[in-house]
Amino acid sequence: MKSPMSSTLERILAVPGRLAQGDALTRIVATVGPASRSREMIERLIEAGVSVFRLNFSHGDLAGHAATLRTIREAAGGSGSPVAVLGDLCGPKIRIGRVPDPGIVVEPGERIIMHDRPIEARPAGDGRAAEFGTTLPSLSRDVVPGARLLVNDGQIRMLVLEAGEGTLVCTVTTGGRVTSGKGLNMPESLLSVRTITDDDWRCVDFAVAHGLDFLALSFVRHEEDIEALRSGIRQRASALGLEDFRLPIVAKIEVPSALRRIEAIVQASDAIMVARGDLGVELDVALVPVIQKRLLAIAQDYGKPAIVATQMLESMIESSMPTRAEVSDVATAIFDKADAVMLSAETATGRHPALAVEQMRRVARYTEAYLGTLPAESEAPARPRELRDRTAALAHGAWLAARDLGAACIAVWSQAGGGARLLSQNNFSIPIIALTSDPRAARQMQLLRGVAPLCVDVPEDLAALSRLVDRYVQETHRARAGDRVILLAGEPLGMARATNRLAVIEVGDPLSGFAMRPGAARPR
Ligand code: PGA
Ligand code: MN
Repeated sequence: MKSPMSSTLERILAVPGRLAQGDALTRIVATVGPASRSREMIERLIEAGVSVFRLNFSHGDLAGHAATLRTIREAAGGSGSPVAVLGDLCGPKIRIGRVPDPGIVVEPGERIIMHDRPIEARPAGDGRAAEFGTTLPSLSRDVVPGARLLVNDGQIRMLVLEAGEGTLVCTVTTGGRVTSGKGLNMPESLLSVRTITDDDWRCVDFAVAHGLDFLALSFVRHEEDIEALRSGIRQRASALGLEDFRLPIVAKIEVPSALRRIEAIVQASDAIMVARGDLGVELDVALVPVIQKRLLAIAQDYGKPAIVATQMLESMIESSMPTRAEVSDVATAIFDKADAVMLSAETATGRHPALAVEQMRRVARYTEAYLGTLPAESEAPARPRELRDRTAALAHGAWLAARDLGAACIAVWSQAGGGARLLSQNNFSIPIIALTSDPRAARQMQLLRGVAPLCVDVPEDLAALSRLVDRYVQETHRARAGDRVILLAGEPLGMARATNRLAVIEVGDPLSGFAMRPGAARPR
């Protein structure tokens, strides 16, 4: 007798070739940079499975980002599937000022002086301590004796001994070479800088004017940061005469203060990012896995998508093969119900951008195949249910119907993406085909786990939508004649928040789904 466990493994091992092909349910976000901004490479990345490209405003200038955006839009136009672009605002990232080449080495126990202005650094000499500039004007007021100063992702560490007029005297605890513009983290200090800087607002102008699909905000500290960004976006959009302009906000969770306000932040944002790079510096790196698990659970609870980011396939910056630990890390994010996994330097500056995406997609495919063999539990998000949200309840009903009928896939008319999002948060192991007539909404669905967006003209009525879905699932080999497909929609089609009806399509039967007429029902 075979145990159910060995048959699960056999099923996955039996078809490795076929399983490795095709789209994963988990979405892939790839950062664009010098290694990936050519037309040819963008096309390869889309082919390999990228749903969302990230433009990182911490690097490069706006003219460069505009050129990259054009390349992505052109490449996506040819690929037939909507591809989204996310702009990532740097927020109050504090940096060291200029340091003469090749940098200044500081030793453990050495005293150094930090300035509240980005002055050019001076090495120690003649009995004077080394001095460094910073980009934090409130440095000597915000950072008190006993607090830590971490340079370059925590590789160099200092403790503040005393605060003076515009300066701090520090002692080095972990030494190293300090070079120009390196990041500075101060985990214990509450910095009196605005979360959204003047530079960020220039990037917001750019994002609205160029119609980016998402904006991420770094170093979010509380929900007011998100609210300020949202009203700034609204003002800019209406100044440009863009009515109903929706620019979803991704809150990057990377500092302890955000963890203390996490529920309010999740509620205020459209999605979150588990930004493990800065999290691992601001907090003990050993805490990152449990924080990731908690953040993903909270996002799921609120029915909001979550991205897991940073160092997922770090060794592939150089190597053509990931480490076993990296592969496990990607799988763990998927076990924890991440909607999307992100690549940073791997695709921005690495040697194998397309291979990294390909590896990520393959890990996702196998992991999802395994998850699909487990007893299914719906885990519909709790908050929308508490609010008695109609679409959330119908999405949950669709999940139950899909399970009970063994449906091949789900289809939804989701004009603005809300229905697709709520379906997605039910953790389907089958694809969700989300139709809309709004190309922007189609791109914004690219962050939702399991959702395959499709932009089409508004069908005449629900019966026409049923027939369209029936044809589409057969043409794309998502279902065969005789399979069942669940369809969620509402009238009038083409209007947001109209979702109110659920139907079952018998694939290949033109008189099923919403096209079924009284008397046409046949017992199966
Ligand atoms: P970053 O954000 O790459 O913009 O720093 C992600 C992170 O901190 O993990
Ligand atoms: Mn970060």
